[in-house]
Amino acid sequence: MFSEQPSKSESDSPGSSYYSAMHSQLSSCTTSPFAVRHLEQHWSSSIDDLPPIPIPFALETFLLAKKFKLPSVLKRAFYELLRTSGLGLDVLDLGVPYEAEFTRQDFTLLVRTREKLDATWTKVTIVQPQPPDMDLWTCCMSRETQRAFWDSAVFESGLQIRFLHDPICGLMELEHMGLPYCDRCVVAKRRGWEEVRISLWSYLDEVLAPVVAH
Ligand SMILES: [Zn+2]
Repeated sequence: MFSEQPSKSESDSPGSSYYSAMHSQLSSCTTSPFAVRHLEQHWSSSIDDLPPIPIPFALETFLLAKKFKLPSVLKRAFYELLRTSGLGLDVLDLGVPYEAEFTRQDFTLLVRTREKLDATWTKVTIVQPQPPDMDLWTCCMSRETQRAFWDSAVFESGLQIRFLHDPICGLMELEHMGLPYCDRCVVAKRRGWEEVRISLWSYLDEVLAPVVAH
């Protein structure tokens, strides 16, 4: 995975073709602005433009964004890797030509950030936001009724597992879920989930800052 002499045997793979073509465009004074604009649109860093279906060639795009210092493109490509099975790194076992561009620091950053995402999502699915100044259990539902609904909607439905590595979309799913609570509880929960989602998305800027700083 961390070889200094990558094999050229997979130089004709779709990922290699994509990397080669984009690298060529980004390196050219003529086409670079258009290539950057294309990447920024396709790999949007907007939290409101994040459907639950990952975009292909995330590793290639991550490496290109790192090399050409494109923070907005880097962020979305990084998140696509984080929510992909195997962190999207299976292609490195094929000996792609850009393998050496992927460093141990990149790998460590991916692993540690995924741990943060997993831990955040796990906490979200266990501890629900509540209105700050209320006695929850006399407000709208008994503790038992609320627990039964939550177990069915989040755990038995498979929602918790489905979004384990994709908490941004998981939180969005929770925010749009029909909730059998009183209005006050619903508002507090949705606001709490939105705050976690925005905070987590901003956290990615923090961890990625050193990647494009040098
Ligand atoms: Zn309530």
